[in-house]
Amino acid sequence: MPIVAVIPKPNSPVEVREVAEPDLEVGSALLEVELSEVCGTDVYLQQGRLAGVPYPLVPGHVSTGRLQKIRGEIFDVDGRRFNEGDLVTFLDVHRTCNACWYCLVAKAGTRCPQRKVYGITYGLDDGLCGGWASHIYIKPGTRCIRLDADPRAFMAGGCALPTSVHAIERGDIKIGDTVLVLGSGPVGINSILLALMRGALRVLCIGAPQMRLDAAIEAGASGTLNIETTGESQRLDWVLENTAGRGADVTIEATGVPGAVVQAMRFTRDAGTVVVVGQYTDHGETSFNPHLDLNKKHLDVRGCWGSEFSHFYRAAQITAQRSEAWTRMKLISYGLEQANEALADVSEGRVIKALIRP
Ligand SMILES: [Zn+2]
Ligand SMILES: [Zn+2]
Repeated sequence: MPIVAVIPKPNSPVEVREVAEPDLEVGSALLEVELSEVCGTDVYLQQGRLAGVPYPLVPGHVSTGRLQKIRGEIFDVDGRRFNEGDLVTFLDVHRTCNACWYCLVAKAGTRCPQRKVYGITYGLDDGLCGGWASHIYIKPGTRCIRLDADPRAFMAGGCALPTSVHAIERGDIKIGDTVLVLGSGPVGINSILLALMRGALRVLCIGAPQMRLDAAIEAGASGTLNIETTGESQRLDWVLENTAGRGADVTIEATGVPGAVVQAMRFTRDAGTVVVVGQYTDHGETSFNPHLDLNKKHLDVRGCWGSEFSHFYRAAQITAQRSEAWTRMKLISYGLEQANEALADVSEGRVIKALIRP
C-alpha cells in the first residue's frame, strides 16, 4: 500500500497515512518516488497561506523517481517511449489547456485558468498527487522528463531552478551586465548561477543568514551583503559603490518581503530591469513613489509567475550537463516521518535545500 505524508488541514502537523493503490487509466503511470523536496511554498501550505488549496493535501511538487507501472504508452518530447524502470521527473503543472485566451492569444501558459499543480492545487481527493509519498499517480497528459544524470543534481535545483530559469528569461540579461539578486534562498542561489551562465559579468547578492551568503559566493557571486546588519541606505550605497554609481543593470527580487520590491527598484539603474519572482504568497502591501522610483527612472518592472515545460526541460538539461554547481550544494534529506522537522528547518532557514526521501 502506498504511504503518504499529508497536511490534513491548515496549521495541522503533517501525518503519515496508508492509502489505496490507484487504478491506472490509459496513458497514466505509477511513479515510485526517490526524492521530493521541501520548499518555502510547502511551509505556506502548512500555514494555510495559499488560496484555493484543497486539503487534505500531500505536498511535494517537484519530485524524481522510477516509473514502476505504465498503462498504455507515454512518450517524452523527443517522441521516445518511456519504459517501466525509467528514471524521470515530471512537470508539476498539469492540464495547461492550450485552448484558452491566455494560452493562445496572450501566450502566457502560466496564467492558464485550467492548470493544476501536483502537491499544491491537487489534493489527496484527486489521487496520489504529491511527492511526499512512496508513490505518485502520473495522470494522463502529465509531461515526464527523462533524467539521464544524477537526480540529486536536479533536485538540488528543485522547483527553484525552473523558477529561476523563467526569472532570468524575464530579466533579459545582456552580456557584461551587473546583476543584483535580492534574497539568498534557493531561488536567489539558482538565479546567481543562471545569471552568470546567461552572460552577466558580475552578480551581487543581498540576503541572509551568513550560511546562505557563503552559498551565494560558492555559486559565483562577486560580493554579498548581509541584510541583518545593514539598513536600506547602506544597501543602496553598497550597490552604487559596486556599479560606478548607477545601480544594477538587472535586479532579481527573490525574497518574499513586499518592501524588497521597492528596494529592487531603487537599487537598479535608470532604464534597467527589475524581475519580481519572490512574491508567490500574499505578504501584504508596500508603497513607492511612482515619479521617483519608476517613471523618472524609465524602469522596466516585470512579474514572473510559475514555470512552464520549457523551464523544467532546460533545468533538467542544465543540471545533467553542467552538474558541478548543483552537485556541490548542501542537501539534507528527511524521511516521511520527519516531514514536520523538515518544514521547521526550511521555515527557519536552517538548511539550504531540504529533500524528502520516502
Ligand atoms: Zn489555457
Ligand atoms: Zn516549490
